[in-house]
Amino acid sequence: MKYIIEALREGKKTWSDLKQIKIKTNGSEKNVPERTLDRILKENLEFWGLAKKEDDFWVWYQYSKKLTKHNYDLAMNHSRILLTGFHMSVYNTDKYSQEKEYVAMKEHLKGHSEIYQELTKYEKDFTKMNTKVKQNEGVLKKFFPNLPLDPFTIHEHRNDFKPTTLEEEKLKDELEKEFDKFYWAIYTPLKSDLNSLDIDLTHGKPLEGKCSLCRNVEIIEEGVKP
Ligand SMILES: [Zn+2]
Repeated sequence: MKYIIEALREGKKTWSDLKQIKIKTNGSEKNVPERTLDRILKENLEFWGLAKKEDDFWVWYQYSKKLTKHNYDLAMNHSRILLTGFHMSVYNTDKYSQEKEYVAMKEHLKGHSEIYQELTKYEKDFTKMNTKVKQNEGVLKKFFPNLPLDPFTIHEHRNDFKPTTLEEEKLKDELEKEFDKFYWAIYTPLKSDLNSLDIDLTHGKPLEGKCSLCRNVEIIEEGVKP
């Protein structure tokens, strides 16, 4: 039950999100059997008022409560700051991934599980490309002497990369092919989902879940004294 509660505390989850939860017993990992999951949700958590079903999602009780006007404003402002910063830092996840606000945004994205999965794939592929760029820094510096060397910058200035040797030509070709694949298959869907969070925000919906930066902000139920 602990694992299910932890997952719901991260943010709302669909039945299929919850089915993917792995529990560790005696050093091995396995999924929660469907019947057990159903029993935990309905006969325990829902029965005790700890979680409830809202449309397709199971929601932890704290998140289904109404925010006071003050806390709603805080949540909106906090979401706006995190999301705006994230749009910028996602262009170089290797550089920013340890920063407090990046980490905080990722914690919130656990409440948007599809986007979280896209981001995990994105970071992995970005790092792979970035490593290749770093390994070829010597060659690339020749063509981009005054630019930061990262996959997005190189792509943006690809016309300045004018190979003079076969090896350079091969490198340019490989970098472009990898970037194109990454751009369409991984970056574009992630960016479009992040944009849909912007639209939600514009229409008054803050990010799901909580993070290490907003954990201190008490979410107080309307009419309940802290
Ligand atoms: Zn937060």
